[in-house]
Amino acid sequence: MKKLAKLEDLAILGGRPWFEAPLHVGRPNVGDRARLFERFNRMLDERWLTNAGPFVRELEEKTAARLRVKHCVAACNATVALEIAVRALGMEGEVIVPAMTFVATAHALQWQAIRPVFCDVDPVTFNLDPAAVEKLIGPKTTGIVGVHLWGRPCDAEALADVARRHGLKLLFDAAHAFGCTYRGRPVGGFGDAEVFSFHATKVVNAFEGGLIATNDDALAAKIRLMKNFGFAGYDDVVYVGTNGKMSEASAAMGLTSLESLDTFVAVNERNYDRYRANLEGLPGLRVIEYDRREKNNFHYVIVEVDPGAGVSRDALQKALWAENIHVRRYFYPGCHRMEPYRTLDPDAAARLPVTEAVAARVLALPTGTAAGPDEVDGVSTILRFCMLNGRALASRLVRP
Ligand SMILES: *Cc1c(COP(=O)(O)O)cnc(C)c1O
Repeated sequence: MKKLAKLEDLAILGGRPWFEAPLHVGRPNVGDRARLFERFNRMLDERWLTNAGPFVRELEEKTAARLRVKHCVAACNATVALEIAVRALGMEGEVIVPAMTFVATAHALQWQAIRPVFCDVDPVTFNLDPAAVEKLIGPKTTGIVGVHLWGRPCDAEALADVARRHGLKLLFDAAHAFGCTYRGRPVGGFGDAEVFSFHATKVVNAFEGGLIATNDDALAAKIRLMKNFGFAGYDDVVYVGTNGKMSEASAAMGLTSLESLDTFVAVNERNYDRYRANLEGLPGLRVIEYDRREKNNFHYVIVEVDPGAGVSRDALQKALWAENIHVRRYFYPGCHRMEPYRTLDPDAAARLPVTEAVAARVLALPTGTAAGPDEVDGVSTILRFCMLNGRALASRLVRP
């Protein structure tokens, strides 16, 4: 392993990269292979590959029990699941969402000609600020979509209160939050519905997959129709629908992944604690915290780089990439600065000072089962060296 004695030892200044192979954020967790192949064999033997097969139904039952909700409906991915939930809830016109999220949250609305109205986030939690939401409510507003950013739950109670008082629908994008709790209750049971992602990069994965959780019987029934073209029975379509079904192969992976969830979370928490210990007290860098009174999946290790630090967040990112550490700026630059939103609403940034500041400060670090103690220590060593030599490094990076 290389030594870091002088600036030139950094790969960005000509040194050898710390890691030989790239270290990624969101490298998929793989559970028990034997269990997965056993399920694949059963699926192929029975030739039941999709359409409410046994694995999809088992996944829906197991997730509903784990999330303590009445209904879970599996879907092909979270983006389509969000679209279906938005439509089934009857949202239209304008819907209030944070811009500090993955672009799919906004796209799920825009795709259905609903205008996402971007709302600023709370400076402490980085989640939707309920007071700011209330100020944006207008005559066309029909709903609110909250996002549990990095698995840290939204203030679901305050948002529910705003929604109730204004007669709005409340949906949560819970793509990051499987296995997390809010006030001791699993995320999944809040608002009218919550949508999880089982994308390969998420804590539970089904290759591609999504899940809609709700306690509303009528809504669940409508969602089930909508994700299957509106078919109520053979040759009987009662509703406009789409194809949002999850395949049996995905459900087999989802079930296998779910069985390992506790292990994945334990690895994540160990990595998180190790990063915290390694980076403690480092000036200009802060690891974002999780409320230890709640359950968290620790799937995201996010650091905030102080804008006054010697080295900028973006220079730090470049230095890390040169070491083969592919850190990500989740979710820079914010949805409001991506198309079509930046053209449709060019002044949004002025309304979103906290979003702008947060998006400029954050970096997601590699974790999960693909990162062991050596990887966490390597990333931490580079981070420490870059921060402690920030000014010198920054001056070397601007020179031609
Ligand atoms: C991953 C993600 C999605 C989209 O999930 P898919 O299953 O990939 O469609 C939506 N919202 C957020 C916040 C995400 O991180």
